[in-house]
Parts: sequence; C-alpha cells; structure tokens
Amino acid sequence: MISRLFRAVIMGPPGSGKGTISSRILRDFAFKHLSSGDLLRAQIRDGTIAGVQASHYIERGELVPDDLVVQLVLAELRSHLKGDNWLLDGFPRTVPQAQALKESFSLSCVLNLNVPDEVIIDRIKGRWVHAESGRTYHTEFNPPKVPGFDDVTGEPLVQRHDDKPETVRARLNSYKNQSTPVLEYYRKTGLLQEFTGRESNEIWPRVRAYLSSLIDVQREQDVDRV
Ligand code: ATP
Ligand code: MG
Repeated sequence: MISRLFRAVIMGPPGSGKGTISSRILRDFAFKHLSSGDLLRAQIRDGTIAGVQASHYIERGELVPDDLVVQLVLAELRSHLKGDNWLLDGFPRTVPQAQALKESFSLSCVLNLNVPDEVIIDRIKGRWVHAESGRTYHTEFNPPKVPGFDDVTGEPLVQRHDDKPETVRARLNSYKNQSTPVLEYYRKTGLLQEFTGRESNEIWPRVRAYLSSLIDVQREQDVDRV
C-alpha cells in the first residue's frame, strides 16, 4: 500500500497556544516538529556561517532574509526529516518562503489558530515572574499564595517587559502585518484550515478531529489507488 506523508504548517500569533497545540499534535500523531526559530538558534549555537549571518538579523528583531531561511529549512526537511511526517512552525513567514516550500514539497494542510487579540493580551497580562528564580505565576491559572509575591522566597513578583499589554499589542500587530499575506496565499490554494477559539482546550479537539479526518481521506485515496 502506498502511504503518503503528511506535511503540515501551523500558524498563529504569539500567545495563541501554538506551542500547546503543536505538542498535542506530536503526542497523538506520528509527526516530527521543525521550528525555524529553533533551527536558526541551533545554527547560531554551532557557530555555522548561516548562524553568524542570521544572528545579525535576529538580534535586531528583524526577519532573516528569505534565501538563508529557505536554504536551512529545506536542507533540514530533505535530510533529517526525509521520509517523515512533519509539522512546520515559524516557517513560512513570507510569501516567497511559501513559494519556495511549494517547489519542493506538497503540503497536506496549513493550520491557523485564530485567537482574539483581547484574549491573548488578557492571558499574557496575568503572567508574573520571580526574577531571581524564573518561577512563573498567572493571576488566574496559577496564582501565588500571596498575590504579588513569590511562594518560596516571599519576594515581590515582576512583569516581564515582553508581557506588558502595550508590548503584546505591538507584537500582535507586527505578527498580523507579516502573516496576512501568507494566510491569504494559503487561503487561495485551499490549504488553509482556520480554528477560532479562546482556549487551547476548546481548539484542540477540533484540530485533532480535522487531522484525523484528513489522514483517513489520505488513507482511502491510497487504498483506491492500489
Ligand atoms: P515565538 O514567540 O513564536 O517564539 P519568535 O519571534 O521568537 O516568536 P521564532 O520562530 O522563535 O519566533 O524565531 C526567532 C527569530 O528567528 C525571529 O524573530 C526571526 O528573526 C527569525 N526567524 C525565524 N523563522 C523565520 C522565518 N521563517 N523567516 C525569517 N526569519 C525567521
Ligand atoms: Mg521564540
């Protein structure tokens, strides 16, 4: 029997629960995960030429040029992930990246997590850390015993600059500007599958059902062809 490989991309704004949904996909389906951010950071750690080049952009908070990321990601997909089902995270970030990916691989689907900005801002706003130890709390989901203070040391908790509402709002806007053309591109190709919701626990069963049905369809088509 021919067994086709399952190739997916996951997209979603920072704080949308992309990490949670990805880890559940990996837990329940036989997928390998490839994050372009992790791949770039590994190159930087290893001191490769690509890593040195990429680090200049990453430090400034800019996107790494398409050529460089495309080359790294495609090389990884062709070597270490050859013959595997995979879930791509953080790539493609631009339309040229999406086009380059298409030239080498045909995707099964693109998952987009659509979580309202206000929900994300509220969620991140509740996050407090104990600076010294890195212990994190959440006013709603994981509150400290005494509001505003670390459980272990009793020292005051602080909010990371990244987690302040105005910073989060700016990040969400820049994500939106970046991702809109890519989402449009995938919408046109019919690959885009959107999941709208407020919480990962609400979104996850739908992602799971969707992936299961897609895999079943693939299997049936493969059986038909034999
Ligand atoms: P997240 O909160 O989702 O981790 P992030 O901005 O830290 O968001 P990463 O995917 O970890 O995103 O990437 C870190 C950095 O690496 C980005 O800011 C960018 O400079 C670079 N990068 C990662 N993927 C790409 C890509 N596909 N194209 C261009 N640059 C990329
Ligand atoms: Mg990151």
